[in-house]
Amino acid sequence: MSFAAGPKALAIPGPSPVPEAVLNAMHHAGADIYAGPVVEADLRLRERLKWLAGTRQNLATYIGNGHAGWEAATRNMLAPGDKALVITSGGFGEGWAQMARELGAVVEELPQPRDAAPDPAALAARLAQDTGHEIRAVLIAQVETTTGILADIPAMRRAMGEHPALLAVDAIASMGCEPLEMDAWGVDVIVAASQKGLMAPPGVGLVWFSDRADSRTRAAGPYWDWRPREHQPELWRHWGGTPPVHSIWALDAALALIEAEGKPALYARHAGLARAVWAAFGAWEAGNPAIRCRVADPAGRAHSVTAAFLPGSNALRAWCEDKAGVTLGVGLGLADPDTGLRLGHMGAASAHMILGVLAVMEAGLTALDIPHGPGAVEAAARVIAELA
Ligand SMILES: *Cc1c(COP(=O)(O)O)cnc(C)c1O
Repeated sequence: MSFAAGPKALAIPGPSPVPEAVLNAMHHAGADIYAGPVVEADLRLRERLKWLAGTRQNLATYIGNGHAGWEAATRNMLAPGDKALVITSGGFGEGWAQMARELGAVVEELPQPRDAAPDPAALAARLAQDTGHEIRAVLIAQVETTTGILADIPAMRRAMGEHPALLAVDAIASMGCEPLEMDAWGVDVIVAASQKGLMAPPGVGLVWFSDRADSRTRAAGPYWDWRPREHQPELWRHWGGTPPVHSIWALDAALALIEAEGKPALYARHAGLARAVWAAFGAWEAGNPAIRCRVADPAGRAHSVTAAFLPGSNALRAWCEDKAGVTLGVGLGLADPDTGLRLGHMGAASAHMILGVLAVMEAGLTALDIPHGPGAVEAAARVIAELA
């Protein structure tokens, strides 16, 4: 039999669940794009997005996904022939590097461990060799969604010292989940998208850029140029044409939720839910060392997504989906995809949802006879009890 009827739980690392208030905000036939509520929502949205990213500098918005944000940021930072250093901790870092390469940049990857945070000393050592300051930009993911690694962005910025390269951060899986203070931390470019921590449907790519990056803008082409999207007053300029009015309403409503919760509570909730997930994996691991978080040191783990080794993961994901209405994320970047999975806990994730997901996983492990230690749900519940 199945217990999947009723509300489902979407626990993949993006797109994340869209809250009802956000869905309802989109329920309009349309609007004038030259005056009125959508123009006001756009301006409010831009202010809130800058507040969330901790910046008083610039923001460019694009109809598109995270890849569109990557391409926009890359084209504005790097002309063909410009040199970029990409710090990679998994598939998304490699993906951004490959895109920059295809756009003509001279890309060097600085591969980092797949089970630990990137090493600031490795970045410092590489930049120290670049005495001619040929490296124009350093690219890094704050949260690498394939491996569940969290980079220490302030430490990486400090490692750059006086090197003049721009620091560009992929925050697609961390914006709204992890602290990220662009101005205080000295970050030049941030890329995000609407469908992960920002709780809106896919469809909007976001690029914050510093005045320093603005002054070094390369010829990105008329559609991708980030300058009119920030410096022109008209709504249609902000979006390079007809604005995505329903996405604006969705993001406006989502940012209202985020603002009401407040940044400290927002980040504490994500960190607490992540610790509950790790506590469950720790209990399972105690009875089966083949089940474990991919990142050993909790300090290097993302708070928005957990990537774990788990033999039999494909059967477990199918069981959770069919029997209990819980969708888990596929393992990425594994030699055998059946040995791991990813659990998203970003955006509209609550204790009731995450504890439910973990309890369903426990049921699935039991039903499928996958060896695992006892007490995972209790351990996760204890974390919530202690933090709440
Ligand atoms: C999801 C994700 C992307 C890709 O975003 P799309 O919206 O799928 O194009 C890039 N980087 C990271 C870190 C991500 O999590």
